[in-house]
Amino acid sequence: MKIQRRKTTTVKIGDVPMGSEHPIVLQSMTNTPTADVDLTVAQTIELAKAGSELVRLTVNDFEAAAAIPAIVSQLEKKGFNVPIIGDFHYNGHILLTKYPDTARLLAKYRINPGNVGKGRTHDDNFATMIDVALKHDKPVRIGVNWGSLDQDLFTSMMDANAKLPEPKDFKGVVYDAMVKSALDSAAQAQALGMKKEKIVLSVKMSELQDMVHVYQLLAAQSDYVLHLGLTEAGGSLKGVASSSAALAILMQQGIGDTIRVSLTPEPGVSRDQEVKAGKAILQSMGLRYFMPSVTSCPGCGRTNSDKFVHLAKDVTEYIEAKMPEWKQRYVGVEQLNMAVMGCVVNGPGESKYADIGISLPGSSEKPSIPVYVDGKLFKNLKGDDVKDQFIAILENYIDKKYAPVNVA
Ligand code: SF4
Repeated sequence: MKIQRRKTTTVKIGDVPMGSEHPIVLQSMTNTPTADVDLTVAQTIELAKAGSELVRLTVNDFEAAAAIPAIVSQLEKKGFNVPIIGDFHYNGHILLTKYPDTARLLAKYRINPGNVGKGRTHDDNFATMIDVALKHDKPVRIGVNWGSLDQDLFTSMMDANAKLPEPKDFKGVVYDAMVKSALDSAAQAQALGMKKEKIVLSVKMSELQDMVHVYQLLAAQSDYVLHLGLTEAGGSLKGVASSSAALAILMQQGIGDTIRVSLTPEPGVSRDQEVKAGKAILQSMGLRYFMPSVTSCPGCGRTNSDKFVHLAKDVTEYIEAKMPEWKQRYVGVEQLNMAVMGCVVNGPGESKYADIGISLPGSSEKPSIPVYVDGKLFKNLKGDDVKDQFIAILENYIDKKYAPVNVA
């Protein structure tokens, strides 16, 4: 089944196009102090190497703003041209004006309409940021967050709601205010001369059902490019699980043109986990392919051997190690689908469904290890070097099936 994307405009962030005519873009954000150029460059490279197609940096003070040219220059010298996005809150109008090189070198500005000022100051500061973006021909993301929602707007909407014969509940007004803040700000930017093709919107909330609902409302009312993210998703398994669920619900409905998986960092764990999680979500939904997938069963009481567990792990690690080389050599290899299974119950079926599959014997089964290629029994493996034999079949299959990359 193919997911129908919601029709949107196209926005280019540096060289990366974003919108319904293009693959969903994966992005991430550093957590180093931006003013520390070396640390920030190192983490940006780590994220880019993991597959982040855009990297956002906080630009929160003079030192951070002043560091951007050195960061971009060092990245270029090291061969990384990943577009860098500046994340601005409170003082973006000052920083973008005071540091024109920074404004020129950033690929996009993130503006939070909830914290650019109040009343007339809000409009002036917002207009200043849009003017700088227009001058440098940059796109912007108008990123509304529940935690920093424009309080003047929200209070006035709560007051108006209270006077209705059938007022909405608190959450209902929050949803409406989030959407209104995003759409009003986009309209304000367009009134200042910005084209729709330069505007990305987001309306992040931290509770899954709220986030899904507010994006659905926004998607139904506009064709702006949408950046999806569950804010404050948490860390580790909880963050990955809740982000996956929230993003998957929306993307299944065709909503979302770029994603970021926000994970609370864990000590000693690389920041690139958020990129790896994003890739896994997109690939598991069939929206993008990054590397061959390995279907493996969870194991159960039908197998008392952990051979298939080790084989699944070894094959996955082999693929990860070989992928950079395969990508240079074979067109479409990332769509290869493999199966490593633990017994006869689902083993042959899953193995036949995959491009290549292997079904190890469960407890009290015949010690036969069939390998299936393109749905047909290819060979029964024997001996102590099953992993090596299987990998040789895999390499041979890839070489025959995938056309060489044209290097002309
Ligand atoms: S394939 Fe066999 S070992 Fe694996 S989970 Fe299913 S029944 Fe258990």
